[in-house]
Amino acid sequence: MRLSSSCSDSRVPPEIIFDKGLGEIFVVRVAGNVLDPVVLGSIEYAAEHLGSPLVMVLGHERCGAVTAAVDAKGKPEGNIGAIIKNIAPAVKQAKNEYKGKDKAELVETAINDNAKTSCGKHRETVAGHEEAGYRRKGEDRGRKV
Ligand SMILES: [Zn+2]
Repeated sequence: MRLSSSCSDSRVPPEIIFDKGLGEIFVVRVAGNVLDPVVLGSIEYAAEHLGSPLVMVLGHERCGAVTAAVDAKGKPEGNIGAIIKNIAPAVKQAKNEYKGKDKAELVETAINDNAKTSCGKHRETVAGHEEAGYRRKGEDRGRKV
C-alpha cells in the first residue's frame, strides 16, 4: 500500500492519478500539504502498521492554500493562519527566487517549494523512526523504502 500526502483542494484524487481503487492507497489530504503532528502521526501509522513502502507528496497547480499564503498580509491568525504559517517558508523562498516575476509564476514556484519542503519533513520523520528502532514492514518484505 502506497501512501500519498496531497492537498485538500486538489481536484484530482491520488486514486485516480494512479488508477487505484479506494483503500489501495493510504491518503492523507490536508490544505497545502502542510505537516503537523497529527498528519505526521498518520503517515507514521501507515508506514509502521500498514507497511507503506513509499510516501508521495502531491502538489498541484493553482493551489488555493499556497495562493492564500502568497497573498497573506500581516500575521496569520486562527486555524487557517496555521496553514499559512506552515507554507510561509516556501513562499519566502519562492519570492527570493522570483523577484520581479508575475504572481502566477510566484505561486507555481511556491507550490513546488512547498511540496519539496514537505518531502524533506517526511524524510526527517522516517529517519527519526529508524533511529528510534522502528522497522518498517516494507523492509521486512525486502522493499527499498
Ligand atoms: Zn492546494
